[in-house]
Amino acid sequence: MKLDIQRFAVPFRKTSKTRKRMRRTHYKISEAGTTKCPKCGSVIKPHRVCPECGTYKNKEVKKIEETA
Ligand SMILES: [Zn+2]
Repeated sequence: MKLDIQRFAVPFRKTSKTRKRMRRTHYKISEAGTTKCPKCGSVIKPHRVCPECGTYKNKEVKKIEETA
């Protein structure tokens, strides 16, 4: 079998550092999603039990001992 090197598209020019960096300005990490707890109103992660009051879907799931 012969090696067919020119089978793939080869870039005509080398991508410069500036071009590469300009392209990558769009590569960003999106902000993690947050919601508010319907009971206590604190900012929580979605689909998780509220760490402040221990509720999920308005039901108490976890007992939170209050420290005075
Ligand atoms: Zn809560």
